Amino acid sequence: MKVIPADGLETLGGRRLGPDESFDFACHNGLACFNHCCRNLNLYLYPYDVLRLARRLGIGSARFIDAHVDVVLRPGHHFPDVLLRMAENAGHPCPYVSEAGCGVYADRPFTCRSFPLEKGLLAGPGGRSREAVYWLRPPAFCLGPGQVRSTTARRWFEADPDTRAYDRWTGRWARIQQRFAQDPWAGEGSEGRRAKMAFMAAYNLEGLRDFVFESSFLKRFKVDPVRLARIRRDDEALLDLGLDWIGLFLWGISGPGLRPRR
Ligand code: SF4
Ligand code: SF4
Repeated sequence: MKVIPADGLETLGGRRLGPDESFDFACHNGLACFNHCCRNLNLYLYPYDVLRLARRLGIGSARFIDAHVDVVLRPGHHFPDVLLRMAENAGHPCPYVSEAGCGVYADRPFTCRSFPLEKGLLAGPGGRSREAVYWLRPPAFCLGPGQVRSTTARRWFEADPDTRAYDRWTGRWARIQQRFAQDPWAGEGSEGRRAKMAFMAAYNLEGLRDFVFESSFLKRFKVDPVRLARIRRDDEALLDLGLDWIGLFLWGISGPGLRPRR
């Protein structure tokens, strides 16, 4: 998911859908294309995707980032993309695909949940993003659109509590990424201390937990006590703090749950 500038709608391709517009799609293992969509992908992983996949694999997010992704800083960008590393064997399949389908189905990334839809947030006046926009862009080999099972974009992204949670986290990250479009590193560049801190806050929960509890962080910043108790044991609460921390240290956005001590 990303924030789309108002003049960028025409460049999306595919079929634009209104939130309550119907489309037909069904996927099952009887289709000739089964699993073809799970190979040779640029599969973007957002912070909540990494939290879920690392937990699924029973490893820390730092180890997951080290071993399973490519971190790519594109020319002209100020924050890197995180892409799941495809397997080396023929066809470069996703490391989690098996003959039976997705091997991490309950924890599959947002992009896989969205498929064949894509979702964006249309930038409103002043760059603020509000309205959700949807478009249908399956690859030509995908036979799902020919299967009759009607739904709408809104229902697709509200299908179950997990999908709603992924949608909320990824929308929040899209708004942060939108801010990264303007160089936020105060002259340090994308390899500097501030950039490394922001990456850790989003993608390295063990590093973030150490930073919160083992550095002078709690002397310098006030965290709501209930929140503080939760982040000791709850990765979602920790990531929530990490995203707030990015907003605070880069752009001065504070709230009652996290603010500088006076
Ligand atoms: S129908 Fe589309 S989504 Fe389903 S297996 Fe085939 S290519 Fe993948
Ligand atoms: S995570 Fe699952 S759904 Fe997504 S590409 Fe890999 S196997 Fe396919």
